[in-house]
Amino acid sequence: KPSTRTTRIFLPHLVAAMEEVEETYIMVKPDGVQRGLVGEIISRFEKKGFLLKGLKLFQCPKELAEEHYKDLKGKSFYPKLIDYITSGPVVSMAWEGVGVVASARKLIGATNPLQAEPGTIRGDLAVQTGRNVVHGSDSPENGKREVALWFKEGELCEWIPAQAPWLRE
Ligand code: ADP
Repeated sequence: KPSTRTTRIFLPHLVAAMEEVEETYIMVKPDGVQRGLVGEIISRFEKKGFLLKGLKLFQCPKELAEEHYKDLKGKSFYPKLIDYITSGPVVSMAWEGVGVVASARKLIGATNPLQAEPGTIRGDLAVQTGRNVVHGSDSPENGKREVALWFKEGELCEWIPAQAPWLRE
């Protein structure tokens, strides 16, 4: 029979496992990397308490950028968007958690940084839609799709952070 301490430590994971655990793909775009904002942006998700599953600095090939943004093909800004995303290294991240997709979008803020609330990443750190420093998946389905698109299987870690018992009652 598990001790009270064991139960207290491990029950939060059982509770979390019963709820809808989602994953989301977060990317520091080339302007965020060039402007030295990588640590700041990672830190916001880390401090919030989501689980980091994958992380890499990566030069995105054109084909991958086109696949990632395939729904925007045909928009007037699409060619510039592909040039932007492939213009330098990006930092790719996979984060996991209950409600992580919508919450990450809130932390990121509106697409147009001038309309993004202060306190959000774009609201605090950017001024233009075409240079809005960060990407976040817009639905749980796209979260799964994008994590699978940007990461190979061996690049993702299954782990329980030391802080886990202190994040959920
Ligand atoms: P979000 O990244 O907030 O989910 P969208 O999916 O609508 O926004 O657009 C994807 C990305 O395309 C934006 O983050 C931005 O980099 C770029 N983009 C969108 N609209 C414009 C625009 N009008 N001009 C330039 N770039 C744009």
